[in-house]
Amino acid sequence: MALSRKQLDTLLGMLSLTRPDEIACDECTEKLSQFAENSLAGKTVPEGLEAVEHHLAICTECCEEFEALMHVLRDSQ
Ligand SMILES: [Zn+2]
Repeated sequence: MALSRKQLDTLLGMLSLTRPDEIACDECTEKLSQFAENSLAGKTVPEGLEAVEHHLAICTECCEEFEALMHVLRDSQ
């Protein structure tokens, strides 16, 4: 099942209202490289990284860091 980015955003937006396991920026940063490598590989989000995905949807700073990281990883391939 593949979700479009828009569907994903909508879904995450809905989850953000009730999500009990929110993480902070420092925790997000810790798992960010793992999450980026995973998304680059086109894998589905594994358990434990869902919180990162959720945090990226609500945090502009971490989202920018993630995009930058993705660029670096793509360039290094
Ligand atoms: Zn953040």
